[in-house]
Amino acid sequence: MFWADSVAQELKKRKLSLEWVDDMKTPSGKIHVGALRGVVIHDLAFKALKDTGVKTKYTYIFDNHDPMDALPVYLPKEKYEKYLGMPLFKVPSPEPGFDNYADYYAKDFINVFQSIGCNPEILWASELYLSGKMNNVIREVLDKASEIRKIYEDMYKKEMPKNWYPFQPFCPNCGKVSTTTVTDWDGNEVTMVCEMNKVKWTKGCGFQGKISPFSSKKGIVGKLPWKVEWAVKWKVVGVTVEGAGKDHMSAGGSHDLASEICKKIINYPVPYPLPYEFFLIGGKKMSSSKGLGSSASDMLEILPPQLLRFLMVKTKLNKAIDFDPSGGTIPNLFDEYQKAADVYFSRSASGGEKRDEDLARVFELSQVGEVQKPPMIRFSVLAQWVQMPNMEEEIKKEGLENWAKYAGIWVERFAPDQDKFSVQKELPKEVEELSKEQKQLLSKIAKELDKKWEGEVFQTRIYDIGKESGLGGKETFAAVYKSLLGKDHGPKAAWLILSLDKKFVQKRFLEASK
Ligand SMILES: [Zn+2]
Repeated sequence: MFWADSVAQELKKRKLSLEWVDDMKTPSGKIHVGALRGVVIHDLAFKALKDTGVKTKYTYIFDNHDPMDALPVYLPKEKYEKYLGMPLFKVPSPEPGFDNYADYYAKDFINVFQSIGCNPEILWASELYLSGKMNNVIREVLDKASEIRKIYEDMYKKEMPKNWYPFQPFCPNCGKVSTTTVTDWDGNEVTMVCEMNKVKWTKGCGFQGKISPFSSKKGIVGKLPWKVEWAVKWKVVGVTVEGAGKDHMSAGGSHDLASEICKKIINYPVPYPLPYEFFLIGGKKMSSSKGLGSSASDMLEILPPQLLRFLMVKTKLNKAIDFDPSGGTIPNLFDEYQKAADVYFSRSASGGEKRDEDLARVFELSQVGEVQKPPMIRFSVLAQWVQMPNMEEEIKKEGLENWAKYAGIWVERFAPDQDKFSVQKELPKEVEELSKEQKQLLSKIAKELDKKWEGEVFQTRIYDIGKESGLGGKETFAAVYKSLLGKDHGPKAAWLILSLDKKFVQKRFLEASK
């Protein structure tokens, strides 16, 4: 059974009145494709739950109140340095038309996940605080600060300061959050300081005073440290299913700490976890390979939405996805997708034969909207078509424009040299290598071009002419390729010839046969 369906079956036994699936991310810059894997995994759990008839809901929380703790390399340092340490929703957007920095990067990511068929309800952490819903639990964790200190100490085997409190105010003077520390809690207010040198990358202002830790419609006054906050959000929102990447799910990691807070402090059942492996680009977690950035939106430039989704749906949670777009990776992915479609659509056709139900389900869950039958043509052939002149008509006739666009991108950016070709404007020097028989062959083909040909028939005819001239298949087609492309290999010869202007080919073959 497909993993998400097994999870749904297991969850169904809990008989909860509502299964609330949630995922989240801090929009601190362009969002990495690894986070997209999280969105898809939670979407699969959500859809599988729906399919089993369990009442379910899917939300995505953007932690827009987290501080800006580093400057992305693609942003101007002069403009953004002064915002380091401030909550992301207080930082201006890099582009006009967005409320703030977090809004800009979150919306870029929302566009990507919506276009691959994931439509969670969006929640903003800032609004959770502004709504006042967090306040009761904030009081609870401040009252139990000493117990939380003990959880940290047991887990990390290091002593916590006796005046450590699980709260970080937004400095009322300078607005920063990374620089503040709470040193006391009297049941109404926290005592805080904005430290000059708390972190290396930005300075505090030195403010000291007492403030209420309770946010209201008037504004947000602070936030919980994120591991504690993760647990509190589960309780406040009502989350029952939430996983994370393996960096958070390892032993002693943030998930372990949040789980302890759930059990020992706020009395809330830990959501069903969905731990998953990384999504690497060319073996690396971050960085770029062959001009491909590793952000989620970069991936949509090189793969159609269904294929990007398929890549993630087909990979088991505990397996890393290592996507290196160079070489044959992309054509292979298209082949696999078509194979999965064949299995899916063979339901009634195959009669008694047992089909691979998991693969059929993978195909079904890779769809964006209605189930769509993919084109029959192999991607590698389409990649040849887009390199031939005068094929636009054929591509349009077969309804292949969309895939042809991606084939063109693959040829331009990722195809190995052996898969690239272009018809040479001048007679290639490689024709000097042609044998007497090959030259004979070319002049015979030139003559036959006056007849009207269909691709398949003409391909056989070329092969037969070669045989008449005493040539094997390989030598026959090499003669065509050398005289047109200056290479000894290429796409199917008949289609290549028929895609070109007849007069041009006749002239070229006659020149080459001299
Ligand atoms: Zn300050």
